[in-house]
Amino acid sequence: MIVTRFAPSPTGRLHLGHAHSALLAHRRAREANGRFLLRIEDIDGTRCRPEFADGIVDDLAWLGLDWDGEIRRQSEHMDEYRAGLDRLASMDLVYPCFCTRAEIRAEIERSGAAPHGPEGPLYPGTCRSLSRDEREARIAQGKPHALRLDMARACEDVGALHWHDRRHGDRLAAPARFGDVVLGRKETPASYHLAVTLDDALQGVTLVTRGEDLLDATDVHRLLQALFRLPTPDYEHHPLILDAEGRRLAKRDNAPTLHSLRLAGRVPAEVREMAAG
Ligand code: GLU
Repeated sequence: MIVTRFAPSPTGRLHLGHAHSALLAHRRAREANGRFLLRIEDIDGTRCRPEFADGIVDDLAWLGLDWDGEIRRQSEHMDEYRAGLDRLASMDLVYPCFCTRAEIRAEIERSGAAPHGPEGPLYPGTCRSLSRDEREARIAQGKPHALRLDMARACEDVGALHWHDRRHGDRLAAPARFGDVVLGRKETPASYHLAVTLDDALQGVTLVTRGEDLLDATDVHRLLQALFRLPTPDYEHHPLILDAEGRRLAKRDNAPTLHSLRLAGRVPAEVREMAAG
């Protein structure tokens, strides 16, 4: 059975780009008599707000989208993500990183030509070589730290990995270009990459539909699936909806939200049409 999901982060109101994504996921499920799930990705307590989560539910219902089962809210499942991190720690695949952003920046500047990945300059690996004693001493001192994946070791463990995208075909995963990604922090034992991978498997998602801006990130998710021995869903990364000037619709560009279109008197059928792209 096809199981799809729409997984927005409640950091603002939904815009037409979100509607495009949600409509595609919904269509893929309904055309196959499958299930369409809604997941609220609210692990980042500093950026997510409950009223935006309520707004998402409200906007989707207004658009005429119905989802199956309960809404999954990631903030209610931190223990599960922590358990995932513990598992990677027991495999010796994560290490604590005590660097502040400023320290990382300074280190990168010192080293001159820092390699860049899809998410910016790569972490130079400063804390990877700390001794066990040093790590334990800093943790005992209460130093804040993140947990990073030891990317080289993880890639070596799993070998070559592939995944399939309905629009982009067969892909050879190249997660190493992301470097030692952060998978968790002390106060938030989860990152987007970790939570999305675990949740898609736990919810039995068989087809992940989302924007092409996340195409590269799927390589990291494929790696985590291999490390956790999880199944790999099929993927469909769709082109992003652009505004009249050809810019992608992001919240920061003051793109019209579904809510503002609704207040301006648009009806759901019109907005669905606008979001069709
Ligand atoms: N929560 C992510 C976002 O709103 C999308 C996650 C996904 O579809 O994998 O950008």
